[in-house]
Amino acid sequence: MGLSLTTICAARASAKMSKQAADYQDQPHDGEVCSACCMFVPGNPDQCTMIGGVISPHAWCKFWQAGPNDTCS
Ligand code: SF4
Repeated sequence: MGLSLTTICAARASAKMSKQAADYQDQPHDGEVCSACCMFVPGNPDQCTMIGGVISPHAWCKFWQAGPNDTCS
């Protein structure tokens, strides 16, 4: 995907990445959805540890990673 772990960590340490930069879309991608991503943080509103803004559980972005919610570090 071309982004190093350092780049990702740096993005998390400062402001969250924009939805546009992450190719966020309001629909699943090949069966992958935010609600099954380890960066998804359920709440009111639902959020993501990496991407800024309100996140839909049915959305997706190119950084999707399988795992229990809010367990990626
Ligand atoms: S990192 Fe995971 S939870 Fe966050 S927007 Fe991308 S797919 Fe959704």
